[in-house]
Amino acid sequence: MTNNSPILAEQLAYYRARAREYDKWFRREGLHDLGEERNARWRLELNRVYSALDAFAPRGDVLELAYGTGEWTIRLAEVATRVVGVDAAPEMRELALAKLQDAGKSNVELWVGDLFSWQPDQDYDVVFFAFWLSHVPESHADRFWRSVHDALRPGGRFFLVDAAGAVLDRNVIHGSRLPDRESATELRRLEDGREFRIFKRSFDPDRLARDLRDHGLDASFVETGEFFVYGLGRRA
Ligand code: SAM
Repeated sequence: MTNNSPILAEQLAYYRARAREYDKWFRREGLHDLGEERNARWRLELNRVYSALDAFAPRGDVLELAYGTGEWTIRLAEVATRVVGVDAAPEMRELALAKLQDAGKSNVELWVGDLFSWQPDQDYDVVFFAFWLSHVPESHADRFWRSVHDALRPGGRFFLVDAAGAVLDRNVIHGSRLPDRESATELRRLEDGREFRIFKRSFDPDRLARDLRDHGLDASFVETGEFFVYGLGRRA
């Protein structure tokens, strides 16, 4: 699994080890690295993304790539007929399943699989991925977008959300080390001090929208202010 790149393997090891810390970080619970004012801003901007996802209405058969702790899966399951998720970390799956069970969601199937070798088994109405694109290295980007295209029915739609480029450049969230722009990698530290190198790539929304046309995908992007960028698109 991901053994064609030591950093991809380390990236997965990082998320497996980080699974139990993830929600606390994402919800900004008891974290003081940004300060209270910017934690509030984070939540405000996140609510904008949630509103955009509500307006997008992920109906029908939905594929979620890298579902993590299921934070977004629950929202997708509210509207979708069925959600199928793929993530390579069994620890994430366990947390997501518990969350879905608590929320009484039974229209979700979560699989453990490596997205760098995984192939979709059917067509979907919607493909969704949160905070995943920035972890896909440049060398794998074409294949990744081809798999998004191929997973969608003609006219099918996709929605993505990620950290805004400015956040990545200043590394405002993970603080300890600046990202290495040359290699598009970053050193991440867990609460217990263990360190892992991961891919963290920023993207220029206008350029990405142009590149996606070559993949048969129409897309437009919105920045929420400081923290997030989301994109909506469709298979042409
Ligand atoms: N989408 C979730 C969210 O926003 O809460 C999780 C995002 S987290 C930044 C990245 C996710 O990618 C983790 O859940 C991790 O387990 C998963 N992941 C890492 N490497 C992977 C791989 N090779 N294939 C599939 N998932 C992978």
